[in-house]
Amino acid sequence: MKRTYDVIVIGGGPSGSSTASFLKVQNPSLDVALVEQLEFPRFRIGESLLPASIPHFKAMKFFDKLKSGKYIVKYGARFYSHQSSEDIYFNFSDCGVEDLAFAFEVPRKEFDHDLLRHAESLGTEVFQPESVLEVVENDEGVRVRTDRRELQGRFLVDSSGRSAHVATRRNQKVSRSDFNNAGVFGHFKGIKRYSGKHEGDITITVLNDGAWSWIIPFLGDMASVGVVFSSKNFPNKRPDWDFFQEQLNLCKEFQQAMVHSELVGELRTVANYSQFSEQLFGKNWILVGDASTFIDPIFSSGVHLGISAARKASELILQALTPGHQDGLLPLGQSYVDHMALGIKRFRGIISMFYQREFVAQMRKTLNRPHLYQAFTGVVAGDVWNEENPLFQHGVI
Ligand SMILES: Cc1cc2nc3c(=O)[nH]c(=O)nc-3n(C[C@H](O)[C@H](O)[C@H](O)COP(=O)(O)OP(=O)(O)OC[C@H]3O[C@@H](n4cnc5c(N)ncnc54)[C@H](O)[C@@H]3O)c2cc1C
Repeated sequence: MKRTYDVIVIGGGPSGSSTASFLKVQNPSLDVALVEQLEFPRFRIGESLLPASIPHFKAMKFFDKLKSGKYIVKYGARFYSHQSSEDIYFNFSDCGVEDLAFAFEVPRKEFDHDLLRHAESLGTEVFQPESVLEVVENDEGVRVRTDRRELQGRFLVDSSGRSAHVATRRNQKVSRSDFNNAGVFGHFKGIKRYSGKHEGDITITVLNDGAWSWIIPFLGDMASVGVVFSSKNFPNKRPDWDFFQEQLNLCKEFQQAMVHSELVGELRTVANYSQFSEQLFGKNWILVGDASTFIDPIFSSGVHLGISAARKASELILQALTPGHQDGLLPLGQSYVDHMALGIKRFRGIISMFYQREFVAQMRKTLNRPHLYQAFTGVVAGDVWNEENPLFQHGVI
């Protein structure tokens, strides 16, 4: 077994597997190792993908597996307010970009497993289950100590998720106070669905005091249901079953959809998850995905940001591996920081709009104007680097 690699990736979530896949697709002779601490399949929250990821899936040659029929197609996103039965609907095919007409809803247990096996099928050497314990920079790049072995790499990609291995050890992980939310969620069977083309749509309800809920249907009878709420606005609320039900029952549509449903497995919780890392790259390392930044999940941006970062990071690493780049990522990394900051700023723009009062009522008025409907649909589809979007051109977002 080899011990020396061009690139070592920490984490086999979407960000890590995508980085490895992009590297191997662009240069099959590269030696890439990926270390994942858990046995897969394993549970992960974050099941609604965005259309803007589709071109990335195509580029990493994963799209055929994604559309093989095991994942339900998501053609749009519907938002309700619990205060009225009026809704707003973003139909992705109206966003004006042909490639972004749909996405998928994916149980992450299967999706992450498929994506990791895809990276492996491209020639990535996967160490799993195995934990990275220590990363030390040296003259050759980085030395990585796991609970089983030592590996030497020229570059390290940290995509260890919100545990943020590198940033935590460098004391550079910062919690965000602006979207200080918690979530409670589970998988249910027997939830009433929309019919036909709308079956795979995500549905979101705006609740009181910055709380909201989601239903994400999977292929078959299962669906993901969750409630997110501000720890600040609900200081004494425990993210337990009673709270979950109390919130879901605020919305007539959700209450009706769940009448004959049954929880499968456990109800899970997550708290205060918005965070960022102060430094995203060094000479021989780069942070990708949640390990670098995690913003609020309301517009399902997490996996898309991770995969977009993976693509950009892989391109820079390939460049840094060519002769004449003795300073590694140092002269290149700022373009990565700028690129990711722009995408995050735009997602944060629409997230802030969401948390302002009366989101659904305000949007209903705005979306009456076709060019604004198209522009907002583009953002909801995740097309946040599209400079032709008038919302970006006019600084609205
Ligand atoms: C309530 C909520 C709802 C969300 N909904 C959505 C949604 O609908 N759509 C969406 O796109 N996103 C959503 N997200 C965000 C999504 O969960 C994340 O953005 C996404 O999982 C990030 O992928 P990643 O690969 O960066 O990290 P992860 O998926 O967390 O993967 C990191 C991997 O690294 C491994 N690892 C960690 N440390 C080590 C170590 N030391 N050694 C080896 N391996 C290690 C872990 O085991 C893990 O498998 C949601 C998040 C929350 C909290």
